[in-house]
Amino acid sequence: MEFYETVIVGAGPAGLTCAEVLGKGNKEVLVLEKGNVIGNKICAGGMSTKDLRLPKKIIQRKFNGIVLNTARQRVEVNTKSPFLMTVNRGDLGKFMATKVRKVGVEIRTKSRVTKIEKNCLTVNDTQKIKFKNLIGADGPTSIVRTKLGLPTKRAHLAFQYIVPKKFKTLEIFFDFKKFGAMYAWIFPHKSETSIGSGYCLCNDAGLTKFGMTPKLMKENFDQWFKEQYDGRARFEAGLINYDYRGHDFGNRFLIGEAAGLVSGFTGEGIFFAIESGKDVAERIITGKQTYSRIKHLMWIKGAHERLLRAVGKNNLVSKVLVGSAPLLLRWPFLGKKILRKMVY
Ligand SMILES: Cc1cc2nc3c(=O)[nH]c(=O)nc-3n(C[C@H](O)[C@H](O)[C@H](O)COP(=O)(O)OP(=O)(O)OC[C@H]3O[C@@H](n4cnc5c(N)ncnc54)[C@H](O)[C@@H]3O)c2cc1C
Repeated sequence: MEFYETVIVGAGPAGLTCAEVLGKGNKEVLVLEKGNVIGNKICAGGMSTKDLRLPKKIIQRKFNGIVLNTARQRVEVNTKSPFLMTVNRGDLGKFMATKVRKVGVEIRTKSRVTKIEKNCLTVNDTQKIKFKNLIGADGPTSIVRTKLGLPTKRAHLAFQYIVPKKFKTLEIFFDFKKFGAMYAWIFPHKSETSIGSGYCLCNDAGLTKFGMTPKLMKENFDQWFKEQYDGRARFEAGLINYDYRGHDFGNRFLIGEAAGLVSGFTGEGIFFAIESGKDVAERIITGKQTYSRIKHLMWIKGAHERLLRAVGKNNLVSKVLVGSAPLLLRWPFLGKKILRKMVY
């Protein structure tokens, strides 16, 4: 039977970052990915430009500002330098996988982990592999997380249309009647655009209390979408797990969305995945539980989710907050300060 010191389940940004750092630290690692290709993830590809050294060729678009809309107003907030960008998940996956292979780490595609026992797992119901450390980087429906007995109670159902048209500006839409405490987005890429929104599946955003069902939200979204674009489009949907319940369980670890490390308010998860992947790799290399990046992520996540719950608590507070957000952001100084706080 094969043995690896560390097995990583999932070749998303969390698993690939972790594998690269472990490979650079001369650790023996194997990455198992159920998909045929790497980077085949439903995602709008929006990222802030903070601390990421991505090569130009994989960045689709960069934005020196954002347009915020409510039912009544439209506010453009501009920044001196780009602070938001879009990436194609396929390109990001290929780029990250190349770096992982360069440090000598093997990534096995078409390898779904189907069973996990004490120090051994099964791939595709047939092949057994032994491990010392197991890292769950397997996203919102993580088998590693399930095996640890951790439930997922706080999640969003996010959906988007991919339209074959280049939009000019990156835009966010708040409209309490249509989306409740959630928002809709337009994230332009080079030759196509992601137009999407999400439904909070737990009580945090208070959607059911405000009479918003998933069906109604989708109907509202579709109607609004037609106002933005009336043509052929590809519909996609996926879960976003933001239910964090720990990441270090002895010789088992969770990173990225498997750990619930996503902002429950903005849905941003790529940066969270990358940063948590680095921290867990360093923990395995040094044996020290510093986790300084995860602590910072938890701070951002905490602030974002307190805001989500405040909006979801009370109909009046929600209406005022959702309706006045672009007004607050209109003031150049305050607007930029709040925007920076949301993305850092
Ligand atoms: C519609 C939508 C839009 C989004 N938009 C954005 C956005 O604009 N910006 C942003 O930052 N985030 C966005 N997100 C969230 C973001 O995509 C995730 O948070 C991020 O991809 C998490 O990275 P990860 O590496 O933890 O997991 P993933 O990217 O989900 O990777 C997990 C990997 O594990 C593999 N896997 C799963 N189970 C197994 C198994 N049993 N065996 C082997 N392999 C397995 C999967 O195939 C996958 O490749 C969006 C999500 C959705 C659904």
